[in-house]
Amino acid sequence: MRLFDTHVHLDFPQFHGDRQAILAELRAQRVAVINVGVDLGSSEASLALARDHPYVFAACGFHPHDANAFTPEAEAKLAELLRQGAVAVGECGLDFYRDRSPRDVQVAAFRAQLRLARRLDLPVILHQRAAWDAFREVLSEEGPVRGVVHAFSGDEAMAGQVVRLGLYIGIGGPLTYAKNEGLRRAMARVPLSRVLLETDAPYLPPEPLRGQRNDPLKVRLVAGRLAELHRQPLEAIAAATWANACDLFAVSPSLPPSRT
Ligand SMILES: [Zn+2]
Repeated sequence: MRLFDTHVHLDFPQFHGDRQAILAELRAQRVAVINVGVDLGSSEASLALARDHPYVFAACGFHPHDANAFTPEAEAKLAELLRQGAVAVGECGLDFYRDRSPRDVQVAAFRAQLRLARRLDLPVILHQRAAWDAFREVLSEEGPVRGVVHAFSGDEAMAGQVVRLGLYIGIGGPLTYAKNEGLRRAMARVPLSRVLLETDAPYLPPEPLRGQRNDPLKVRLVAGRLAELHRQPLEAIAAATWANACDLFAVSPSLPPSRT
């Protein structure tokens, strides 16, 4: 069985002590990952990780928290990085929950990255928190994009809107949280052809690991919960979401053959 964790931040300092051990374990346990940039430094680090590991791929972009730093010079540099083998633009989007950059600055950086993705014919990895209406408005104004709404935690109506926009739903640890009954109801009905698995490691650890650092091996717990919701074997969930990720990001990860 292979699993594809489509959203990790292995370059973050939380992994300074054991990054190589985790990368070796991912290979041994047949887990491919997309390492996602949030600014120029982490985008470069993502590309470096991808160069060294044939089951790691890089996304380069500016998180809405970092939209303040998205100057014209930064945009030019990002375009240069994206041409060095990135498989997606992101993460980009809107975060009106923390509001770490002013909202108009977030919207401008988001639009610019959607245009960059179109110009380079790349999919986008989208972050949205407490900004759904503005997020949808920007997406519809900028025209159709290929991509994934990462860390999805909405209800059935919102999941339906994501699917109608032609986007994938990125589902992670929150699927396992006790309070998220509405999310589970929504994910039980979403067609598997629109779902990607993710961890957002080091953040959002699934149950029963809340409070600990998350890592991409834990994507199995998310897959397990989705398998229960869809009443399907874990292997079927793994295979469907693996194929979705390979399609969207146009990749074919190299991992050792299964021992079974
Ligand atoms: Zn992230």
